[in-house]
Amino acid sequence: MTFLADKSKSRFLPSSEPKIRERVSEQEMQQAVRTLLLGLGEDPDREGLRDTPKRVVKALKFLTSGYHQSLDEILNGAVFHEDANEMVLVRDIDLFSSCEHHILPILGRAHVAYIPDGKVIGLSKIARICEMYARRLQVQERLTVQIADALQGILRPKGVAVAIEATHMCMVMRGVQKPGSWTSTSALRGIFAEDAKTRQEFMSLIRHQANFH
Ligand SMILES: [Zn+2]
Repeated sequence: MTFLADKSKSRFLPSSEPKIRERVSEQEMQQAVRTLLLGLGEDPDREGLRDTPKRVVKALKFLTSGYHQSLDEILNGAVFHEDANEMVLVRDIDLFSSCEHHILPILGRAHVAYIPDGKVIGLSKIARICEMYARRLQVQERLTVQIADALQGILRPKGVAVAIEATHMCMVMRGVQKPGSWTSTSALRGIFAEDAKTRQEFMSLIRHQANFH
């Protein structure tokens, strides 16, 4: 049996990362999509569907490409020593993820803050970290925690706060949740968990609507 190398392991993270995955051929994956189409009562050989198995597999591989990235690759050394000790906040990071229960989209925004303790990270890397975890099969709670733990592990800051607001197509499209309703999750580490004033500052900063985009 052949196994893919587990690239999701990082020297920064001891956490519950995805396990080693068994290799399945592209063709077997396409065949599975074809079977799904048959099960739905469709004719996979009609013109519009002929290339659908190939397209679905390609799209799903892209949407889960975060399994094949690691924090080390993304950071590429972009952690710097700096005396800054004020809150750094990146808000309104667009998130496109897929729920692990239905493989349907989770669309949302992440707000990520940390208070440095001698180390800072390139701001664009924060968005890249969010993207890496979003491009996996997820539940919103775990996505939130993974981003917080990644930053905690990389920077050992005084604190990390991550808040995500998202809407889940598996709920919206199936009528369980009304369109326009959002699920909020947060993960607080260090001073954000311990100090109410710092936490409130973060919460009020992310509530304030930026009006220049
Ligand atoms: Zn779902």
